Amino acid sequence: MNQRRNDGGGFRSSGPREMHKAKCSDCGKETEVPFVPDPDRPVYCRDCYQNHRPSRPQRY
Ligand SMILES: [Zn+2]
Repeated sequence: MNQRRNDGGGFRSSGPREMHKAKCSDCGKETEVPFVPDPDRPVYCRDCYQNHRPSRPQRY
């Protein structure tokens, strides 16, 4: 089996990223997020996330 090592470049983690299923708060579509969905926070699919970006830039 061929395994692709290229997952975007930069951050490389050991093992696959754990994905959690969630329902988009906007369109209702089922999506997967790389974090545990917080019931107090809306979760958006990739399409809707474009329209609901946080107003302040992300910090690391
Ligand atoms: Zn959506």
